[in-house]
Amino acid sequence: MPTIRKCLYCQKSLHKQSLMQYMMNDALCLSCRRSLKIKRKTLQMKSLKITYFGLYEHDLAEALLQYKECMDEALKEMFLSEVKDWIRFHYHNCVFLCAPSSSKALERRGFQHVISMFEQCGVPILDCFEKKTDTDQKQASFQKRSEISDVLVLKQEVDIPDKRLILIDDIVTTGSTLLALQNLIKDKECTEALCLCIHPKLLAEYDKKRRRFCIY
Ligand SMILES: [Zn+2]
Repeated sequence: MPTIRKCLYCQKSLHKQSLMQYMMNDALCLSCRRSLKIKRKTLQMKSLKITYFGLYEHDLAEALLQYKECMDEALKEMFLSEVKDWIRFHYHNCVFLCAPSSSKALERRGFQHVISMFEQCGVPILDCFEKKTDTDQKQASFQKRSEISDVLVLKQEVDIPDKRLILIDDIVTTGSTLLALQNLIKDKECTEALCLCIHPKLLAEYDKKRRRFCIY
């Protein structure tokens, strides 16, 4: 009997997929793929251009929580599989610099979730940053997260290559982590970041500022 391929997320049969999904050997059914609402957008934050693929809400937030907090590493391919070819094409000559997790979170999960998610894009990834304390960002308030720069360090033993450098992370909540990481390597030029999703609150703040700027 032939094995029936099942959706990685909902476990239903994979017989309903779009041609595009079939071509990219997508592990999700059409319904799960659509529910993630992956769409590429950019946002300029100070000197950092952030490219993101969705909003941290609804089904995408739920799937990300299951992946990170329920240690479901098998889900690693579902998030970026729709855009991995685009990423590979645009960043093939770059090096990705991964945002760090606290050692406690890393130990709990047993895998570096950002690296696992991005490695399917085929771009070299450098794990060059470290989070000094075990402050859990999930529990930190929105304001408190802006103090994150105090706990991020560049690992001593890592050599950062002279290539185009791109920061990578799963969620941008306030942008403070990315800006702090950019500051840690300010002697190198790094003006771009790639993230799976951003917090809707951050996007709302950003839109408000942009509108204000347009009016005056
Ligand atoms: Zn599904």
